[in-house]
Amino acid sequence: MSDGATTGERSGFRRVILKISGEGFASEGRQGITMASVVDLAEQIAGAARSGVQIVVVPGGGNILRGAQFTAGSTAIQPATAHYMGMLATVINGLALQDALESLGMETRLASAIRMENVAEPYIRRRIDRHLQKGRIVIVAGGTGRPFVTTDTAAAQAALEFHADVFLKATKVDGVFSDDPVRNPHAVLFGHLTYDEYLAQNLRVLDKEAVTKCGEHQMPILVFNFRKRGNIERAVRGEPVGTRIGSPRQGATPAVS
Ligand code: UDP
Repeated sequence: MSDGATTGERSGFRRVILKISGEGFASEGRQGITMASVVDLAEQIAGAARSGVQIVVVPGGGNILRGAQFTAGSTAIQPATAHYMGMLATVINGLALQDALESLGMETRLASAIRMENVAEPYIRRRIDRHLQKGRIVIVAGGTGRPFVTTDTAAAQAALEFHADVFLKATKVDGVFSDDPVRNPHAVLFGHLTYDEYLAQNLRVLDKEAVTKCGEHQMPILVFNFRKRGNIERAVRGEPVGTRIGSPRQGATPAVS
């Protein structure tokens, strides 16, 4: 892992994991997938990739289905089945993003943690690493390939496995707040949190499992809002945006959304 924002001549990171919440693939406040949202994401990711940063994109699937929510209140469908359905949702998003990125002239590969050779490569670590070295944007769909976790955990694992400089979590809110900003107008946006501070406060924007994993390996996390145009590029360049979760820092860090 490098120190981050100022390596080599280029400012910014060398390699990043970019987790995009499923909501990024849908219109604001809606379920499903829309062309405009996919194209918008692709433009932002392409802009970031053109600066030379190696990018692994981990799409979520919550715009289509989240296993835990889908089975709540009924036993007709087994929880594990619903989680696999959620994983397949991430492949739908991944397929869309791949084409949209390629329509912008980017070279991409789609790998799936669930075998699906007709549409995606199998997830093979060394192969993905090679794609990244060749400058291809790699979309890793299918989460971890196993039920009962989320794509946050898949992204955290990928960050460690591929020696990323940072785990970037693009979501629909500006970062980590002290409380739900929709219900509590006094909720405060944090500029920086340690892993322990995040875990102790029972905050929900990012899975605890993912934060724990990153904390064990000192993998920095940045949580930011993908709906603010340019934020993905800012985050990839290492500019201050959203909330940083990492090791303790000297001095106060103002929040930038
Ligand atoms: N999922 C899973 N294992 C994984 C990743 C995802 O079972 O490794 C399922 C889980 O049900 C999850 C759904 O796929 O709710 C969609 O992923 P996620 O909730 O992470 O999407 P996001 O909230 O980022 O849109």
